[in-house]
Amino acid sequence: MRLTTFTQRGARRIGVVTDDGIVDLAAAEPSLPRDMIALLAGGSDALTTARAAAGRRGPRLALADVTVDAPVPHPPKFLAIGLNYADHVKESGFEAPPFPVFFNKQSTCVTGPYAPIHLPRVSPLLDYEGELAFVIGRRCRHVPRDRAAQVIAGYLVCNDVSVRDWQLRTPTMTMGKSFDTHGPLGPWLVTADEVGDPHALELRTWVNGELRQHSNTRELIYDCFAQVEHLSTAFTLEPGDVITTGTPSGVGGARQPPAFLRAGDVVRIEIERIGAIENRVIEEPEEAAHVA
Ligand code: ZN
Repeated sequence: MRLTTFTQRGARRIGVVTDDGIVDLAAAEPSLPRDMIALLAGGSDALTTARAAAGRRGPRLALADVTVDAPVPHPPKFLAIGLNYADHVKESGFEAPPFPVFFNKQSTCVTGPYAPIHLPRVSPLLDYEGELAFVIGRRCRHVPRDRAAQVIAGYLVCNDVSVRDWQLRTPTMTMGKSFDTHGPLGPWLVTADEVGDPHALELRTWVNGELRQHSNTRELIYDCFAQVEHLSTAFTLEPGDVITTGTPSGVGGARQPPAFLRAGDVVRIEIERIGAIENRVIEEPEEAAHVA
């Protein structure tokens, strides 16, 4: 099942993407929760109900008539792992780390699968990172590797957009990984049953149609299940938490000469069995400065 969060005429809802269009779950099954995190927290009962609703005959919304949002627009946590493909470790000039290198992306950086990415006014060193991400479906702690699959609701594509100077000038990477709009997610959340083995998926990134990254999730150093085991050793994972699993080689900053993103560039990231996200780079708009 492909779960989406979408906006139509100013109202945000959740739905199921079918071959004929989106089934609006608020209309098809009013008993279900109205946002993705609550739906996931409803567990297998809620997902079974959603699946049944999507299987019935009824109205469909055309994808072109709605704005497709990030499946989880405000995740409780948005964690990312660095240096998790051997070829990317090498191109970055680092040694393979002895422990998983996790960092936080602030959840306010999440944006939609087709939304613009802002070129920051403070840096031209804007870069892409095509990644497989997953979403937690069950509140959990101390999850052993062999049970980790049970707590993953599904998978999606992430662009771990990075501002390289801001990322690398402090040890935590937090600032350079968290600029607003630097967390495109989507195009939808594909439930784990439909993805099958998450560690056998082709991953490709293009910039303006030029292939920049091409790998397979079998190359992950710490796979999704190992990441769940490691993270949940320290803290509780909750429904809606997003974890993005690292990028392979081919980022712009490692090219010779470096090829950072510029306004007008279009980044497309596609992962087998999940889909593609495509985001255009624009200059950070004046309206980005505000006090609510
Ligand atoms: Zn990354």
